[in-house]
Amino acid sequence: MTAAVGRLSAVIATALFIFALNWMNDPKTARRGVIAGVVGMAIAVGATWIQPEIVHHGWILLAIAAGFVVGIPLSLVPLTAVPQRTALSHAFGGLAAGLVGVAEYHLWLGEGAGRFTTFRMGALVIEVILGFLTFTGSLMAAGKLQEVRWIPQRPVTYPGQNVVNLGVLGAAAVLGVVFVLHPLATWGGSALLGICGLALLFGVLLIIPIGGADMPTVISILNSYAGLSAVAMGFVLNSMLLVTAGALDGSSGLILSIIMCRAMNRSFTNVLFGAFGTVQKTKAIGEQKEWKQESIEGAAQLLEQARLVVVIPGYGMAVAQAQHKVRELYDQLTKRGLEVRFAIHPVAGRMPGHMNVLLAEANIPYTALAEMDEINPEMPQCDVALVIGANDVVNPAARTVKGSPIYGMPIIDADKAKTVLAIKRSKNPGFAGIDNDLYVQDNTWMLFGDAKAVIGDLVKQFAGGGLH
Ligand code: NAP
Repeated sequence: MTAAVGRLSAVIATALFIFALNWMNDPKTARRGVIAGVVGMAIAVGATWIQPEIVHHGWILLAIAAGFVVGIPLSLVPLTAVPQRTALSHAFGGLAAGLVGVAEYHLWLGEGAGRFTTFRMGALVIEVILGFLTFTGSLMAAGKLQEVRWIPQRPVTYPGQNVVNLGVLGAAAVLGVVFVLHPLATWGGSALLGICGLALLFGVLLIIPIGGADMPTVISILNSYAGLSAVAMGFVLNSMLLVTAGALDGSSGLILSIIMCRAMNRSFTNVLFGAFGTVQKTKAIGEQKEWKQESIEGAAQLLEQARLVVVIPGYGMAVAQAQHKVRELYDQLTKRGLEVRFAIHPVAGRMPGHMNVLLAEANIPYTALAEMDEINPEMPQCDVALVIGANDVVNPAARTVKGSPIYGMPIIDADKAKTVLAIKRSKNPGFAGIDNDLYVQDNTWMLFGDAKAVIGDLVKQFAGGGLH
């Protein structure tokens, strides 16, 4: 009976996971997606717990309590820290898979040679390698994003690095094959420990040459490793639910990484081995062309006279936490009958959906949001493009400068608007470390300062400064 309940629950939980992923595709249904995922996971845990093989209920309660102790504070981190929070979740998932693999091997030893089929041993080795490399890789990625002092942000590279890295992974794989073929050898336990050690080391080595700003993409790739590790664990534990949940997790992580790489016009190998972030900076454009500055009053007048304003938010809006002020400005402008749209670049900010989440937090209607492909044809009709802390995603060099690290990356065509108002604090470049001619073109005016403060001043100008 409990076995049948277990099977039925597995089907229901899997269906809920699939619906959850589908609903999360759209802001309208995203909340429902989250609830479906949580309910699916609760059903999966409950259905597994009631199985007759589960006898140590005290340990499970302890594990759940430990999960709450770690999980609740993690859920309270600010939105800007969500990428590293996600990395920590993957680290825990990877560690759990790795430890389950090791424990299962030792349990099988007590149950006799019949347990050791080549298939199950192969799955166990894959589970352990992927689990432990995800653990250290994700910890490193979280550390880089959190800017932990003793983990360098910049890519650390040295000659022959890829050979060393592949050598470590290759050694783990060779040891794994030997172990699969001789699981009952007296040195079996030591071989497994060796595999664990090499996988832990590989996770660290994999992340060292990647720059801090590439971590969101790497985290998404590690997400797919964690998912694949769960698939292998499903085969080890003979749990179809784990296989399907892991496959969904692994494939969604992979799809997300592909979307991010495409939106940056970069390949997987370029992200993993390209040491992005060490690119040479070109001569500061400030030396060659003039940056024109606009006052708050002047900017407010430009906005006031516009019919269509396209707001282009970027990483700087997240840093400044300016989204609520942006909402106030949106209210002021729409109250005056202006059309205000938000142009969302798929890799604006530092994580997928970064801008959508911030704007949703400030209750900006999602109907005002437009994807890049939708808004670009309208940019020549746009009276004011208001760039808020965005840089690379509006850099025309992506269209014109062959050899630029962002050449070929699709951008939002802010430069085609009639007027551009750009908010940033300095003349420093953005993530790719390159100059941006948008800021010095004839119809661009800079509003230097922190995005929250500048937008706040604009709002004040509209509210009380005579612009009614
Ligand atoms: P960006 O190119 O990094 O530029 C952000 C700009 O914001 C900077 O030029 C900075 O200039 C400004 N800024 C920072 N803090 C600010 C503040 N408090 N107030 C006002 N301005 C501030 O960002 P982006 O245009 O959003 O492009 C995202 C980049 O990240 C792309 O290159 C993308 O490929 C990469 N990336 C994205 C993802 C993702 O999933 N979204 C993942 C990996 C990589 P100042 O310092 O002068 O203020």
